[in-house]
Amino acid sequence: MFEKLPLLAWPRDPRLSILMYHRVLPRHSPFFPDEVDAARFESQMRYLARNFTVLPLLEGVRRLQSGSLPSRSICITFDDGYADNLTVALPIMEKFGLKGTVFVATAYIEGGCMFNDAIAEMVTRTTCSVLDLQELGLERYDTSSIEHRRESINSIRKKARFYPPEQRNELVEKISRIAGVDSLPNDLMLTKAQVVELSRRGIEIGGHTITHPVLTSVDDNRAQTEIMMGKKTLEDWIDKPVRSFAYPNGLPGRDLTNQHAAMVRDSGFELAVTTGKGIASRLSDPFQLPRFVPWGNSMVKLGARMVREAWASAM
Ligand SMILES: [Zn+2]
Repeated sequence: MFEKLPLLAWPRDPRLSILMYHRVLPRHSPFFPDEVDAARFESQMRYLARNFTVLPLLEGVRRLQSGSLPSRSICITFDDGYADNLTVALPIMEKFGLKGTVFVATAYIEGGCMFNDAIAEMVTRTTCSVLDLQELGLERYDTSSIEHRRESINSIRKKARFYPPEQRNELVEKISRIAGVDSLPNDLMLTKAQVVELSRRGIEIGGHTITHPVLTSVDDNRAQTEIMMGKKTLEDWIDKPVRSFAYPNGLPGRDLTNQHAAMVRDSGFELAVTTGKGIASRLSDPFQLPRFVPWGNSMVKLGARMVREAWASAM
């Protein structure tokens, strides 16, 4: 039996829920217990297919603006460009006939490893039981158990989140020396051929900059180049216009400003999504659309939370 949402639960004025995923792991990982895995993703997709009108993002936002959005509309998005979006998530979405958008940071395609993943890899693989990073301006991190490693990953990521890209690269190199981990995975992210394949199979490819800097951590020229060149590179690869954008990190006011939203608009994008929480209404700025993180195993809880959020943003 699958749970059904009561029809009357949704506000009458159409709202657009935009779900945000990153990775979809092939199986559960004790290091990342909150990360969605294939089984959980499949039950979420089944639930969405039964209870919502799942629309491609561009269509959803256009219909929100024109007032022709069906009730309980939802869009599915993935940030960064992980290979498992193609190998794990897409076959499940195809099974239910669902479409989505993958936002790709172009610098990591073809064997790259993003900062957050590099930190996770080094901390999970090191044979040290304490990782002393004080000489790098960080702390001593306990790596004696899975639980401690998980906490250490989170605190290193948090501390270095706003470093500019070059400083983060430098940090990864130095930590890898101290941790004794000399190679990072080269198959986490999509390859160029896989980006093209996603596009060919009906997944929208969206911009997510080149190197994934927090836009407020770089100057305006750099931000502009990251936004525009990321778009152009993707368009060259897939031979289609790239119209949707997702801000790296993406919290409005902290990770991006209205000025960055104007840069995105002036670069020829039609819409942009943030990581601000909420459900979009007709009054939402199309260049700062909020999203919604599907968490938890229980579909009933997920449904109840979505109804709550929809009403909260209707107030
Ligand atoms: Zn991202």
